[in-house]
Amino acid sequence: MGAFSLITDAEARVPRVVVVGLASCFGCQLQITNAEEHLMEILGQIDVRYWQLVTSEDGVEDFDVAIIEGAVTTRESEETCKFLRAHAAHVMAIGACACTGGVTGMASDYLGARTDLVYDGEAPDACGEMIEPRPVSAVIDVDSEVRCCPIDPYDFVAALQRALYGSNRLPEPRTMCADCKRNETECFFEQGVLCLGLVTQAACGARCVNLGRPCNGCAGMSSAANLEAARLSCETYGVPVESFDKALEMFNQVKLTDSETL
Ligand code: SF4
Ligand code: SF4
Ligand code: SF4
Repeated sequence: MGAFSLITDAEARVPRVVVVGLASCFGCQLQITNAEEHLMEILGQIDVRYWQLVTSEDGVEDFDVAIIEGAVTTRESEETCKFLRAHAAHVMAIGACACTGGVTGMASDYLGARTDLVYDGEAPDACGEMIEPRPVSAVIDVDSEVRCCPIDPYDFVAALQRALYGSNRLPEPRTMCADCKRNETECFFEQGVLCLGLVTQAACGARCVNLGRPCNGCAGMSSAANLEAARLSCETYGVPVESFDKALEMFNQVKLTDSETL
């Protein structure tokens, strides 16, 4: 995780930024536009050389920051990641798909059979050479990430600020419950309702719980998660363990190693 500044003095070049989408729904790129008034402030601080959602120009090679949305699902997207890594001083992964594999990871098991089902045989050439979905960090080093599905636009703004101006903030592998307790909301387990905050990486300040909904784990599992203790909690509060395990499948199909987990 890079803790350096791309802007070193007043004379420094305006940082050149590219925004690239891999296997994704473009929802996280769309969320960037929802930063509203902050978006204009951001755009005043950077030189957007390429943004897949809004520009058609391709082949840009000179940039400082590469922002990547989406999971790696083809050999071609692996090469795209390597290209971006080779050219950028800072690589940022945004959204569940890019950070943990996200919902795209649900295709990991039986990928070939799923492809056959969807395409009734061979996948068209336009799909590229498909591989099991994986997060960007499984292919290249990633300097920073903005988790969740979709990202929060203000989390993105804060992460970009840290990338541009530097930060000594390091990622902390902890589950969401500590953040949630600070918000003083009633725990869903007390009501016999499943909540994946028990094992999910703290990243959003327990946003859904604050809005009255249990967490479905879109920030991905924390490397500090204790699955056995979580299953015991389910039993204690009358939540079926099977539903806990099933719920984990949505955002945690790609198993990250410790070195890949940010
Ligand atoms: S993380 Fe969610 S919103 Fe973002 S690209 Fe993936 S599916 Fe879409
Ligand atoms: S299980 Fe969910 S509701 Fe309960 S403290 Fe953790 S995050 Fe909050
Ligand atoms: S509370 Fe859970 S599901 Fe909601 S945004 Fe945070 S990590 Fe995602």
